[in-house]
Amino acid sequence: MGHIVEKVQEYLERIERSSINAYIQVDRERVLKEAENLEKNEKLKKRPLYGKVIAVKSNINVRGYLISCASKTLENYISPYDATVIKRIRSQGGLIIGMTNMDEFACGSSGETSYYGPTKNPRAEDRIPGGSSSGSAAAVSAHLCDMALGSDTGGSIRNPASHCGVVGFKPSYGVVSRQGLCDLAMSFDQIGPLTGNARDALLLTNVIKGRDISDSTTVDTPEFKIWNKEEMKNFKIGVIKEFMEVSDEKIRERVERAIEIFRDLNWEVVELSYRYIDLALPTYYLINYVEFFSATRRYDGRRYGYPIEEVCGEEVLRRIMIGRHISKKEYSGKYYKRALQARRMMKKEMLKLFKDVDAIVSPTVPKLPHKIGEKLTPMEMYAYDVLTVPANLCGMCAGVVRCGEINGIPVGLQIMGKPFEDEKILNIMIQFEENF
Ligand code: GLN
Repeated sequence: MGHIVEKVQEYLERIERSSINAYIQVDRERVLKEAENLEKNEKLKKRPLYGKVIAVKSNINVRGYLISCASKTLENYISPYDATVIKRIRSQGGLIIGMTNMDEFACGSSGETSYYGPTKNPRAEDRIPGGSSSGSAAAVSAHLCDMALGSDTGGSIRNPASHCGVVGFKPSYGVVSRQGLCDLAMSFDQIGPLTGNARDALLLTNVIKGRDISDSTTVDTPEFKIWNKEEMKNFKIGVIKEFMEVSDEKIRERVERAIEIFRDLNWEVVELSYRYIDLALPTYYLINYVEFFSATRRYDGRRYGYPIEEVCGEEVLRRIMIGRHISKKEYSGKYYKRALQARRMMKKEMLKLFKDVDAIVSPTVPKLPHKIGEKLTPMEMYAYDVLTVPANLCGMCAGVVRCGEINGIPVGLQIMGKPFEDEKILNIMIQFEENF
């Protein structure tokens, strides 16, 4: 037995014993067989992901697996194909271990809306792990895989990365193919990595990124390299005052301490102001509702699954009903078009800020994760997203690295970059991590 099979076996045993509900499906026999085959495959041995064991969010198609989006709607849907990102992972020697738990159709920030029950935060088991890529972040945090894939529409990679104390990266819109991802809101969604460290995030992004003829929004980007200190001299970091002000004091304090790391690197840190922060949530959710409503029309029970409105949970139903309402012809000018206008304005203003800085840092989530079962109003749930949705609204890239903890609960630093400066942001994440 080779080391990959051995490692997979170890993970399988840990998953079996674990009580955090990170996975929806693991196919023991299949993954062991694939591990064996991998060990015999000479061609893949030198590839960058060789032998890496990867968990996948349940809204990304992996052939032969249950792609349920954690919804009863798709509880019997076995995928007939591999998404582009999965094909790329396999071609570079990666191994898929199973499908992770998530908020139903990625609608949520806590992991509690899953049809399969909530995932627990491995670092504080009575608390939510964040969402919607809750199982992927929790699986990395609890060492139930080497790395994982999540999707991020408004923070779903970064939010659980922050709460579970792992690294997460949302690539700029268009860097990674969405082919094979079940849409939440197609003009925001990006697939990205959840990993134990920033170098792994760069590695996995390198493998999954690139132009794909089946997703016309994708572009080609040169291979991301790891930069040395010389190449990163005199970087300038921006801190948006309004992003700090909306965050809890203890979180702010951790982030302020983290910013000292950049000063120690002799980088300049400047304060910025972004006057549109109040527009972030209304603009994001309005567009989200409309695009999600449209995306769910395929779940009418004719081709696969059950009619979504008949079986889905409360949050998904809320979005469909509001989305249907705003999508009516007579309202589109009033709401949707205004939201698109606001989005353009927000992007323009954000790009202005980037004229003067290399990256903008902030807390990731303004509050600590709540206790599982605690009842939040929809507005309170949405409020978790205020610092993460701007990156999706503006097409920017943004990553999260650990920057401390509060009573044992991890806190993540968000590092945002201009669209298509993903390589730079991943390198700043690496620098931060190595000096923290
Ligand atoms: N919490 C946000 C929402 O519910 C983001 C979800 C996501 O990024 N998938 O829309």
